[in-house]
Amino acid sequence: MYIFMRINSIKKAKDLAGKRVLLRADFNVPIENGRIKDEYKLVQGLPTIRFLLRHNCRIVIITHLGKPDGKKNKDFTVKPIAARLSRIFHKDVRFIDEVIGLKAGTAAGNMENGEIVMLENLRFEPGEEENKRKFAKELAKYADIYINDAFGVSHREHASLAAIKNYLPSYAGLLLEKEVLNLEKARHAANPLILIIGGAKIKTKIRLINGFKNKAYRILLGGALANNFFASRGLETGKSLVDAASLEFARGCKVKNLLLPIDAVVADADGSPKIRSINRIEAGDTILDIGPRTIRLYAGFIKRAATIFWNGPMGRFEDPHYKHGTLAIARLVASRSTGKAFGVVGGGETVEALKMTRMIDDVDFVSTGGGATLAYLGGEKMPGLKGIIN
Ligand code: ADP
Ligand code: MG
Repeated sequence: MYIFMRINSIKKAKDLAGKRVLLRADFNVPIENGRIKDEYKLVQGLPTIRFLLRHNCRIVIITHLGKPDGKKNKDFTVKPIAARLSRIFHKDVRFIDEVIGLKAGTAAGNMENGEIVMLENLRFEPGEEENKRKFAKELAKYADIYINDAFGVSHREHASLAAIKNYLPSYAGLLLEKEVLNLEKARHAANPLILIIGGAKIKTKIRLINGFKNKAYRILLGGALANNFFASRGLETGKSLVDAASLEFARGCKVKNLLLPIDAVVADADGSPKIRSINRIEAGDTILDIGPRTIRLYAGFIKRAATIFWNGPMGRFEDPHYKHGTLAIARLVASRSTGKAFGVVGGGETVEALKMTRMIDDVDFVSTGGGATLAYLGGEKMPGLKGIIN
């Protein structure tokens, strides 16, 4: 496969020694009572920091954490992340309790080669999410070059991802480069390409279906997403999750290669799990998983795929009664990905489900960025990548 893409990778930068680097990371990890509960995103970002340390850079790390909405809020401080990085690198990663200001400026200005400073949560500043040039300009003062290593938010037009590139020579970090190359492989995928889409966040997935309708051999639908298609075809959906906007889309959707579940596991009027054909759903039912005949039908396609992209659980897998469809699909995707197909899995809950099978290592690429992955594959604008990846 030939992928035509120019990536301004940090590996191509010259004379890095002693340079001050502004590193935009995605260290948006879950933190409870000052403890990091899942380090996945942090661990993913370490190779770029190691690379910069090897080149004797001075590193200023910036990240967002949660949604503090442009205001200071100690519940969203990134201090625990700086502390964790200090332990990982056996050196003081100096935490500064502001994003812009005198303290931040002085700390960045007084760094020695190989030192790391971490600034406070970018989203404490309203200028971040508003993509304010003035804010980006202030950030740019701390460094000689800028690195984006935060693929997970690169579909957002925020100052630390978009406006900042007007003020500093800009590069892709090692993680960003890896994520984009893998997604590009999936996009220019070998056929047959099988797309599996489920879950509940319907709006983002509509774009994915549109982006892939001419490329995918089959698009297999599941999860709450499929309910809209049942309803749009006049089928009974009982008390299942259906939303008006997506119903509209489903009605107008004329994608030939789209497959819908043929049976479901429902919670019946008494709340007990029952298997039903899709045309036999009752008014008191809630559809919560795909049924066994659907699993078999979908398995047939997954087993013949050369490329698989999966986003969105097939049902409410968090409940043991309704996990089987999702876990069966997860196992099928993982097995087929061991050498036979190029497998990509993205999305917060989808990756949780994949982890439950203990087969996550069999999948070729597990994407940290749910929304960003969908946006990228759907061919949407990626303000964070503009100018770095062409
Ligand atoms: P991801 O984060 O992997 O992109 P989404 O956020 O779109 O996935 O959706 C995940 C959620 O969808 C899960 O928490 C799951 O319980 C829920 N879900 C899937 N199918 C159904 C359904 N039929 N009814 C209700 N909830 C569902
Ligand atoms: Mg989700």
